[in-house]
Amino acid sequence: MFGRAPKKSDNTKYYEILGVSKTASQDDLKKAYRKAAIKNHPDKGGDPEKFKELAQAYEVLSDPEKREIYDQYGEDALKEGMGGGGGGHDPFDIFQSFFGGSPFGGGGSSRGRRQRRGEDVIHPLKVSLEDLYNGTSKKLSLSRNIICSKCRGKGSKSGASLKCPGCQGSGMKVSIRHLGPSMIQQMQHPCNECKGTGETINDKDRCTQCKGEKVVQEKKVLEVIVEKGMQNGQRITFPGEADEAPDTITGDIVFVLQQKEHPKFKRKGDDLFFEHTLSLVEALCGFHFVLTHLDGRQLLIKSQPGEVVKPDQFKAINDEGMPMYQRPFMKGKLYIHFTVEFPDSLNPEQCKGLEAVLPPRSSAQLTDMELDECEETTLHDVNIEEEMRRKQAQAQEAYDEDDDMHGGAQRVQCAQQ
Ligand SMILES: [Zn+2]
Ligand SMILES: [Zn+2]
Repeated sequence: MFGRAPKKSDNTKYYEILGVSKTASQDDLKKAYRKAAIKNHPDKGGDPEKFKELAQAYEVLSDPEKREIYDQYGEDALKEGMGGGGGGHDPFDIFQSFFGGSPFGGGGSSRGRRQRRGEDVIHPLKVSLEDLYNGTSKKLSLSRNIICSKCRGKGSKSGASLKCPGCQGSGMKVSIRHLGPSMIQQMQHPCNECKGTGETINDKDRCTQCKGEKVVQEKKVLEVIVEKGMQNGQRITFPGEADEAPDTITGDIVFVLQQKEHPKFKRKGDDLFFEHTLSLVEALCGFHFVLTHLDGRQLLIKSQPGEVVKPDQFKAINDEGMPMYQRPFMKGKLYIHFTVEFPDSLNPEQCKGLEAVLPPRSSAQLTDMELDECEETTLHDVNIEEEMRRKQAQAQEAYDEDDDMHGGAQRVQCAQQ
């Protein structure tokens, strides 16, 4: 069965660790392990290395198949995987499965029984831009499963459980499907009687607190600290606060920040953007206004004497943007985007007044001759965005029609280009 004859390596160490002879019975091994493991348990101040060695030795020797490989070929053979994945188990698991609970009584260590990793629970957390600017904390009440304290996750009063009769304790069931006269398919799925745990609990022995469920619900209040400068989408993790389950490493509760739109400010990285509309007079002759910042401070924003602000112009104020995450004394910029509102029309009087003060027209006046040679036109108002949208929709329609005529293949081809 093995590809090559394995070298014989040390095959007495495990017996020595447990202090038993090579002919020790399963009972002798159990007794020896029990005594030594309790004495050397790290929770009782024992040496973790020694505790690990004991578990390893016991794990191998208590399994007849592994013991045979060990006796015949030694430790290395097991390490090479001939024992079906020998070794490598958590010594606390072995200890726990041996005693089926804490042998010390009361408040037993829960660390040994954990293996699988439970799922993380993810909650979105809505925050305002003010929250991200100033920092805040939010208390959230959540309910979660915790290991039943009465039975310590065993589900039974005695701590005992029975092998599930449905799956013989394996937790898995095999079903056979006939696919044809000479073909069958074997499928493995978790046993429905024990939900894949491999064990059931005697009705009379059921824990009264959790009704044999092994877990109970607990309400817990978590305080989420939103730090200054945190970003939309940033995760805040509470390790090991998700649902507890037996033999499972508890997953995390993760809050994902979701920033609500702000009516005035937009954020880009560490910078803030603020929209402000000026009247034409303000744009030309100067302005000042009060900007209420995200922390309530009132900033006076004003133009320089003689300065003209053009439509769509940006201006910036240093160090008035968002605080940087974990360096809140550093701040980005605050950009102000100006829109200039023009009057809809002017009468000839007003025009004359303006012409008197504004720089002269740039285009030269046309002569009557030149005018005679031109055609008259009429300018009319358009909503350019609306018109462009309509034209694009028309083009798409024509394209789709074309597509229908040629069948679906063309669409694929075009999409790939
Ligand atoms: Zn079962
Ligand atoms: Zn219980």
